[in-house]
Amino acid sequence: MKKLIFVLFFFILAISFSLNAQQKPVGFCGTTVEDQYFIKERMLANREYFKNQPLPRPEAITYIPIRYFLVAKDDGTGRISDEKVYENLCGINKIYITQNLSFYLKEIKYINNTSMWENGSASLSAQRINQFNLQNKNAVNVFCVNVANGSELGVLAFYNRVNDYIVCGNPHVIPNGTTLAHEIGHYFSLNHTFYGWENDNYNTITMNCTKTTPMSTSTGILVEYVDRNKTVGTQKQCYLSADGFCDTPADYNLGFGWNGCNYSGCAKDPDEVKLNPDEKNIMSYFLDCLEYFSEEQKDAILKDLNSAKRNFLRSSVYTPKLDLAGSVNYISPKIGEIVAGYNEVKFEWAAVPDAEFYFVTIGGNPTFTLYPQSFKTARTDTVITNLRKSSSIYWKVYPVNANSFCMKGATVNFKTPAFGVATNEVVKNKISISNIVQSGSGVEFIINSDYPDNIQIQLQNSIGQNLNSIKYQIEAGSQSISIPNCIPGIYTYNIDNKNSRLKSGKIVLY
Ligand SMILES: [Zn+2]
Repeated sequence: MKKLIFVLFFFILAISFSLNAQQKPVGFCGTTVEDQYFIKERMLANREYFKNQPLPRPEAITYIPIRYFLVAKDDGTGRISDEKVYENLCGINKIYITQNLSFYLKEIKYINNTSMWENGSASLSAQRINQFNLQNKNAVNVFCVNVANGSELGVLAFYNRVNDYIVCGNPHVIPNGTTLAHEIGHYFSLNHTFYGWENDNYNTITMNCTKTTPMSTSTGILVEYVDRNKTVGTQKQCYLSADGFCDTPADYNLGFGWNGCNYSGCAKDPDEVKLNPDEKNIMSYFLDCLEYFSEEQKDAILKDLNSAKRNFLRSSVYTPKLDLAGSVNYISPKIGEIVAGYNEVKFEWAAVPDAEFYFVTIGGNPTFTLYPQSFKTARTDTVITNLRKSSSIYWKVYPVNANSFCMKGATVNFKTPAFGVATNEVVKNKISISNIVQSGSGVEFIINSDYPDNIQIQLQNSIGQNLNSIKYQIEAGSQSISIPNCIPGIYTYNIDNKNSRLKSGKIVLY
């Protein structure tokens, strides 16, 4: 019996451990108290510098260059898609446009580096990231990795104050844009509204509000009071304490783990006045509630942007493109259509005025978790080879230009039959490409020619990198040319001889 109770005890213990492991971890920002000490110094220096020279809010939108580095493992897998960047920028710009600031996408760069992908904070990763940062010092540089900080998995993202770049965990490059809007806030001299309480737990320190709140935190930061008119000497206490802004109410990191967007806990300031934090402030930790910056925070961002330290963001003249709006008009295949053959399908949509290019995604289900593939094109049509037979194929088109990211097309679908159509395309000089198929993990081209010739086949991946370029001497008759070992994805191929392009298109490899 004793033995049974003992076993039962461990069984219950094991269950409770596994339940704990399933609890959603609370995420936080990796910009430390130490970093923010210096960030606040910069904010105060800007405040002092611009004291006698008013800096009105710009009447027209000011465009700020931003660059995303999408990091993958060495083999090119694990990278987030460009679409995540566009969705993210749509969200970030909705937050910053209230102060007439907008980010334009200078470029997306692709890095393959497994250790950087695994941990954006490891010392070798940080060194490498900073090399890329220094080589590209003409934009806000954001590095998207799988894990922002391998030693503290709760870190969603951080601003590296010393080297002036941002690292974000891939799961947080999402449409609402709040995580990166927050880190960009640090980049432009803002601290947390609860600055000083990052390492302290209010409830533990005050024994759940039975003890009086201390006047400074464990890191020595002056605690903010609720009263906006409280003074220290001749200065307002709210300008000196915590984040240094009087229009961000006192907050003792009350959002961390708080459920919902209405704080109703017992926290009181050292004068025993109950706290009423702003749950919607981007620089707070009410992570599901974030919406805006306060007016004083906006002024501080503007001052930092106009400070000498940020000259590099203002040096290049940017001519904005018009905003893209409306919905995408899909032309071919028609919605619900069963196309003629699964092996070669023409995709076409109506041109969107002012779009610079289109990001096209195809997949096996409406959420694109099955067989997702994507590519970028400046054209409004493309032929895709090797779709799955007898399947529903879902696709969407996302038109963008360098400063407009919110016009995402709807997801539509069509069906493929069990059979293919002849792709025989007779071209000049009687060389024809009779089939392009998947062969193992590679691609195989079947070419027929009436006479010997020299051709070149080029293969590019979805981010435009040249993977393979082979020259081949073809004979009269039919022959097969294989390019082996491709990772799954959509590839663009061009087949040329010295006179002309024989065929080009896209192929999906699974
Ligand atoms: Zn932060």
